[in-house]
Amino acid sequence: MSIRIEQNNCIGCGRCTDVCPGNLLYLRDHKATIRDARDCWGCTACVKECPKNAIFFTLEATLGGAGGRIYAHDSADTLTWELALADGETQRITVNKRQANAY
Ligand code: SF4
Ligand code: SF4
Repeated sequence: MSIRIEQNNCIGCGRCTDVCPGNLLYLRDHKATIRDARDCWGCTACVKECPKNAIFFTLEATLGGAGGRIYAHDSADTLTWELALADGETQRITVNKRQANAY
């Protein structure tokens, strides 16, 4: 699993570059770019931070994901993970952020 950046959707806000703990992301010509995707350890910070859904995880075909994508929709109270599967199916998992640690 690794991230991909859809540069056509990127508005160059720099939020992803600010949150990446490995300093892997930077802006090139006002578009987010990753230095080397192999260095990404999948913390999801940039996926959750992007306001334009320009960053997503790919579910690699070699790992059984057949090229599906995972997006995040963040709001004040909830975080919704959207799985866009390769067969066109979409699944959503919503987490109440205020209760995320209540176990
Ligand atoms: S998933 Fe985490 S480590 Fe990977 S590029 Fe995004 S913020 Fe950086
Ligand atoms: S957070 Fe999203 S829109 Fe902003 S620079 Fe990063 S990829 Fe582009």
